[in-house]
Amino acid sequence: MELIRKNIWSEIDNGKILDFAIDYKKFLAKGITERAVVSMLEAEAKDKGFVDITSLDSLKLGQGFYLNHRSKSFFMGVVNEELRLGLKLLGAHIDSPRLDLKQQPIYEEEGMALFKTHYYGGIKKYQWVTMPLCLEGVIYRKDGSRLEISIGRGENDPVFTITDLLPHLAADQMDKKAGKVIEGEKLNVLIGSIPLVEGKKDPSVKKGILTYLNKEYGLIEEDFLRAELEILPNLPPKDVGFDRSMIGGYGQDDRICAYSIMKGFFDCENKNRNLLACFFDKEEIGSNGDTGAQSRVLEYLLEMLIAKTGMKATSLEVFFKSKGLSADVSAVEDPSYEGVFDKYNRGRLGFGPIVSKYSGSRGKYDANDTSAEFLAYVMGVLDKSKVMYQFGELGKVDLGGGGTIASYLSQLGIEIVDMGTGLLSMHSPFEVASKADLYMTYLAYKGFLEN
Ligand code: MN
Ligand code: MN
Repeated sequence: MELIRKNIWSEIDNGKILDFAIDYKKFLAKGITERAVVSMLEAEAKDKGFVDITSLDSLKLGQGFYLNHRSKSFFMGVVNEELRLGLKLLGAHIDSPRLDLKQQPIYEEEGMALFKTHYYGGIKKYQWVTMPLCLEGVIYRKDGSRLEISIGRGENDPVFTITDLLPHLAADQMDKKAGKVIEGEKLNVLIGSIPLVEGKKDPSVKKGILTYLNKEYGLIEEDFLRAELEILPNLPPKDVGFDRSMIGGYGQDDRICAYSIMKGFFDCENKNRNLLACFFDKEEIGSNGDTGAQSRVLEYLLEMLIAKTGMKATSLEVFFKSKGLSADVSAVEDPSYEGVFDKYNRGRLGFGPIVSKYSGSRGKYDANDTSAEFLAYVMGVLDKSKVMYQFGELGKVDLGGGGTIASYLSQLGIEIVDMGTGLLSMHSPFEVASKADLYMTYLAYKGFLEN
């Protein structure tokens, strides 16, 4: 108990903390979309000798397995004992707030070509203008061929941007409420300005861009109907502060927890339990869809595990005996915005991952609200693992709130609590995390699996 609420920098070898963040920064730079994270996780899993569960007729005890679910969510684990004894489970999400291209995105006005977007997840729209942006995702041509798009992050790549009004002409705009300063339909991305001249037809910038896309990638306009393309901040992750104690970067919600799970899972010693690491898509839009935590993908995986190990159990029996951490970020007190947290129940930067008994809003509505029994269990495990952590609640009562995958996994029967790294500027293009909190989050997840 004496380990709770201490500044980690004063307690732990600072060199270890700073070193741990080096590879995380690379992961964050590369894992810019949920699809990119799944590819990286699959490559890591294969490298460690894990096999695709769908390719196996039978699964042996101790054999690491993985499931790449439609390139957008990912699961890996190992069965070491009877499944009916349950799983130790860690779950994060790998989607992040962003701008998606609409299905018919390209248009032209005033000699400029632009993309229409529809934002994904909870963003402050005014944060997304006047900065370099990149384009990432997949698109299918009519012949069925698949094209992966990644434009903007290469050294010689062009970037894209969303313009804003000059202050000289912004008197009306500046009188608007922050939620209306930049409206959703104004999040239009500038993509070109050279018109194509064709005989007697009017010169067209849109045609100029389509001609370029056709020559360069073999695309036609219709192909955008068969696409999932994301507009993302083109800001490589950076050390923040003179002392380099923090990391700034896009998508740390929730890739900081996803990374900590991945490392904790692979580094876990004493793998004598049934372990499962889950990386879900779609959390930022309510965990919906076929790749989100509300889908039945975990049941699907469990039924495969039961069938392929030949063990006697039902997926429900397994879930009801399982214990998990919902590994999602929380918020830490921002000194410039005092007063949004209850000062006795707030998360603090550098004090370790934050345990939240419940999330939800307006009277715990939609919350998982973990039991005292399970908190006692988790705290026992964390203390045994010598992890420094803190308890925190996301903001003052009735000020807002939010949900995580915890409530959906708990509905399956899994005992679960939220525990994750605290962020500053959450959901912004440049979220900030403490390297000490990252390191301790990793130790917490590793310790949870081991003890
Ligand atoms: Mn999250
Ligand atoms: Mn989020």
